[in-house]
Amino acid sequence: MNNRIIYFDNNATTGTAPEVLEAMLPFLKDQYGNPSSMYAFAGVSQKAVNKARTQTAALLGARAEEITFTSCGTESDATAIMAALRAQPDKKHVVTSRVEHPAVLTLGQHLEKEGWSVTWLGVDDKGRLSLDELAGALSKDTALVSVMFANNETGNIYPVAEIGALCRDRGIPFHVDAVQAVGKIPIDLSSLPVDYLALSGHKLHAPKGVGALYVRRGAPFRPFLRGGHQERGRRAGTEAVPNIVALGAACELAAARIGEENTRVRALRDTLQQRLTTDIPDCIVNGDPDNRLPNTLNISFKYVEGEAILLHLDRYGICAGSGSACTSGSLEPSHVLRAMGVPFTYAHGSLRLSLSRYNTREEVDYATEKLSQIIDRLREISPFKE
Ligand SMILES: *Cc1c(COP(=O)(O)O)cnc(C)c1O
Repeated sequence: MNNRIIYFDNNATTGTAPEVLEAMLPFLKDQYGNPSSMYAFAGVSQKAVNKARTQTAALLGARAEEITFTSCGTESDATAIMAALRAQPDKKHVVTSRVEHPAVLTLGQHLEKEGWSVTWLGVDDKGRLSLDELAGALSKDTALVSVMFANNETGNIYPVAEIGALCRDRGIPFHVDAVQAVGKIPIDLSSLPVDYLALSGHKLHAPKGVGALYVRRGAPFRPFLRGGHQERGRRAGTEAVPNIVALGAACELAAARIGEENTRVRALRDTLQQRLTTDIPDCIVNGDPDNRLPNTLNISFKYVEGEAILLHLDRYGICAGSGSACTSGSLEPSHVLRAMGVPFTYAHGSLRLSLSRYNTREEVDYATEKLSQIIDRLREISPFKE
């Protein structure tokens, strides 16, 4: 088993599904026509993009013309937020949360420097938002509310329907970063009061380099990328046909497999959680156990460093994520765990295990066994242990 990768980091990125690769290959090979060209050869590309738009819309309960293809989740988030703000230049207030992905968090911090006022909603120790706090933050000056559907670190699912209803009552546009939710939990935009919704291909078994943005018909929108008439003028630039075809195929596959995500994958995650919390003393599960993505487990082990756990797991070919802002080279606990007030002695030893439909029970058993041994060994040499 050692020479094989055991991939438990599906909230960071996912492997491309074989069906998805199959669907996109012709457009990387012979079908290279530009969808905007007039001859029949290019019509094949145009039709393929249309089909992908229908497949993406179908997964979300949206209309095809409400879907704009982008290059990634970050672009979808930024496009929605900036398009909404630029369409309402008189309003200078934005409401978002402290637990957003950097795609929204960093943009919010930038907006503050540029003269917008931003309300950063806090969370409780389980990572939950307060609807009362949110309602109290809304004013006549509020141009946009942006709250994620599901958190990439803890898997927490946020009350999008309730937040949307509060926004709708006051005529405030509502953006949702649904990058982690799409394909994992059912989303029906025909009934959800959401105006913009961002998703990313590589988080649902399509390749990197493609995302989509849902813009509800009639929602305020001032485009940033101007040029050709692609994407109904919302995002100029020649369509990335192979990637878009891949995203469409991944959406169709996700729609067909979402039941498995919510039964088999959930059961694997629950087994993992059950075994780890039983076998290993002094550990806590981070997040809201009653409202969590079916694939995500965020767990903290007292007295050890998350990075050390990751390095040891790596020796067994097990890929996972940690709960620290390691991308910045610091060992600070992540902004999400800090916002939740996870105790210092635990926050440093946090680990994110995120599964997919390609994981097996054997992998869960193997990872549990190795993880118990690793934590034991690290605790023996821990300088933090009293
Ligand atoms: C991954 C992720 C993003 C960014 O998506 P990219 O396609 O990597 O730009 C945004 N929000 C959340 C919640 C994510 O998990």
